[in-house]
Amino acid sequence: MDKTKEYIGEKRTSFKDSVFTYDNYTIYFYDSDSPLRAEFVSQHDAAIIDARDFEHAKIIVKRIRSSNDPLIYLKPVFLINYKDHYDKALTELTDGTLLSFDQIPEKVNDIKNIKTHILQLDISEGKSFEVQIFKKVLDYLFTREERTLAPIPDPTSFIGFTYPVVSVNFEPYEEYMVLDILDWALNEDYIWPDYFDRVYLCNQCKSMHVSMRETCPSCQSSQLKPEDLVHHFSCGYIGPISDFKNKIDGTLSCPKCSKNLRHIGVDYDKPSLINQCLDCNEVFQDYKVKARCLNCKNDVEVQYLLAKDLNVFKLTKKGRNAAITGISESEIELEKSVLNTVNFNTFNTMMHYERQRMKSNPLLKACIAVIILDNVHEIYKNVGKNNERMLLVDIAQILRDNISPADIISFQNNTTVVMNINDEDLAVAQLMTERAIQKLENIIANNFDNFILKTKYKVIGLRIDKSFESQFKEVTKQLADQ
Ligand SMILES: [Zn+2]
Ligand SMILES: [Zn+2]
Ligand SMILES: [Zn+2]
Repeated sequence: MDKTKEYIGEKRTSFKDSVFTYDNYTIYFYDSDSPLRAEFVSQHDAAIIDARDFEHAKIIVKRIRSSNDPLIYLKPVFLINYKDHYDKALTELTDGTLLSFDQIPEKVNDIKNIKTHILQLDISEGKSFEVQIFKKVLDYLFTREERTLAPIPDPTSFIGFTYPVVSVNFEPYEEYMVLDILDWALNEDYIWPDYFDRVYLCNQCKSMHVSMRETCPSCQSSQLKPEDLVHHFSCGYIGPISDFKNKIDGTLSCPKCSKNLRHIGVDYDKPSLINQCLDCNEVFQDYKVKARCLNCKNDVEVQYLLAKDLNVFKLTKKGRNAAITGISESEIELEKSVLNTVNFNTFNTMMHYERQRMKSNPLLKACIAVIILDNVHEIYKNVGKNNERMLLVDIAQILRDNISPADIISFQNNTTVVMNINDEDLAVAQLMTERAIQKLENIIANNFDNFILKTKYKVIGLRIDKSFESQFKEVTKQLADQ
C-alpha cells in the first residue's frame, strides 16, 4: 500500500501512515483493521473506507456521521471495495465509491465542493435536542446538495424503516425518536410530507416487531382449528364439516337426515368458517387478532397498536435556508408555554413593569434567578419528544413548590429557566433558588436511575437602570462562560 504512487499530469498521489496526499489534500484511509475511531478523519479533508469488511466499514461510517463535531460528521467519506455489498443506507451516508485508489484525483472536486458548502453554514449551537439533531441533518443535506429524507426498509431498525441521515444519530432501539424529530421539523415547517406507507408499532415500546396471531376470544389461546361450516339445503342443518365426514372414506353425509351430500352449490354449501379452540374447546366464528411485541412482550389486540404514517420528506424553502441562517429557537419555544410558567416574552414585559414599579417605590425589591439545566438534554433524549414537555411541566412544578406562590417562572428555552422572586433580599432569594435546585436534582436522581443533573445558576437583584433583557443576557453569558 505505501508504494501507491499515481502520476496525473504533474500531481501525484502519495500514501504514508494511513494518509493519502494529493495536491493540497490529505485523505485518511481506514482499512479493514483500522481502529474504529471517527476522530482520525478530523484533521484531514476526507476519508476513504475499505468496505471489504462490510460491518467494520458500516461502524466507522456510523461513528463519523453520528459525531457531534462538524469537523467529523460533515467530512466527505468515500468507500472502496464496496460494490458487492450494496446497502442503500450506507450509500446515503457516504459520498461515493472508488474502484481503485487511482481515482482519488477525480474526487477532489467533490471534496472541494463540500468544503465550499460547509463554509456557508450557520455555526451557532442549538440548545434544544431537536434543533441540535435537525440542524446536523440540514447541514449534511445542504453540503451534499440533497433535499429529500426518504424511509428505507431496515429489519434491524426498531420501526422497520430508517431515515439514514437522521437515524444515524440514534441507536436502532431509539428509532421512534427519529419520527419524533421529523414530526417536530414538520410542525416547524422545515419539511413537507409525501405519504409513503403506514407502520403499526407496539403501543408500549414503539417497536414494529410484533407477531400477529388469531386467538380464542375466551381464553386468548392461539391454538385454533378452523373448519368449514356446512349447510345442508334439504333439511337445513348447519354444522362443522367434521360432523358430516365419514371417518372411513371421507365422503359427506348429513348427521341430521343421513342423506349423502353430492355437489357443493347444488345440495349444500359452505357459508363460512368456524373456529374451535383446542385449549378450551370454545367454538366461535370471530377470532381476535392479537399482536405480541417481540421486544417488550406486550400482547394487545391489533386495534390498539400505534399506527404511524411514514412520509418521504422534502425540505421546504425555510428548511433549505436554515442550514445557512440557523434555526431560531426563541421562536420555537415561545409558541408553546409550559403549565405554571409564563412564556419568555410575557416574562420580559412583566419585568419591564416591575422595574417601573421599583422606580416609583424604592422600597420594592425584586430578584432574578437564572438556572441552566446543563445536561438535561440527555434526559430529553431518553424520554422522547412526546414526554419532554411533561418533564418541563414537572421541573416547573418542583421549582414552583420551592418559591413563593406570587413568584414567576419562565423557560427561555428547554434548558434555561428564569425566576422572578419578589420582596426578598438577594441572600434569601439565593437560598430559595439553591434549595429549589437541590430539590430538583434529588428528584431527578431518584427518577432517572441516578442521573446527575448538572446545573448552573446565578441570582441578581433586578436593576432599574438597565433593561431586563440586557441584564438577562449578561447573566446567561456569565453562566455560559463558567
Ligand atoms: Zn380458548
Ligand atoms: Zn340433512
Ligand atoms: Zn413492545
